[in-house]
Amino acid sequence: MARALYPGTFDPITNGHLDIIRRAAQLFESVDIVIAVNMRKASLFSVEERMDMARECTRDLPNVAVLSHAGLMVDCLRSRNAQVLLRGLRAVSDFEYEFQMALMNKKLDPSCETMYMMPSEKYTYLASSVIRELAALGGNISEFVPPGVETRLRDRLKEAENS
Ligand code: ADP
Repeated sequence: MARALYPGTFDPITNGHLDIIRRAAQLFESVDIVIAVNMRKASLFSVEERMDMARECTRDLPNVAVLSHAGLMVDCLRSRNAQVLLRGLRAVSDFEYEFQMALMNKKLDPSCETMYMMPSEKYTYLASSVIRELAALGGNISEFVPPGVETRLRDRLKEAENS
């Protein structure tokens, strides 16, 4: 069985991500959630906060680990002795970017395989950016994120209001 990395921003982790992680944990020897550190992209939560949230909601999955990585994902793949980069593919709009990344990663390391999983139907339209927006506008996000993430989101938005 192969070892997989699931890289992304996870700002914050959603039930859509967790759906992929839970299903992947049954298919791969191990799944590492890799919070990609991207200095050029502003985020609502720090890398440490994003790692904490991911850990909290995958505690029951023994072959899932959470880490962060600044740099090329193919280097992380090698250092974790993994073979597969796992990504979720929601809609056609995801395809072009994913296609480009998979080919670039393959060019950087020919042994790197990118595999895609489609989310369960009910999560197809879910994205961290939509959740942040929905929460900021006062919408109900409880069916889209785990309870711990919902609390942190509400707290963060309150902090922002008060500052
Ligand atoms: P990135 O900024 O790298 O796209 P994200 O944290 O938004 O990072 O997503 C990480 C991965 O999870 C991506 O492959 C993305 O397509 C996938 N993903 C995000 N939301 C969902 C969802 N609702 N269902 C399935 N896959 C998802």
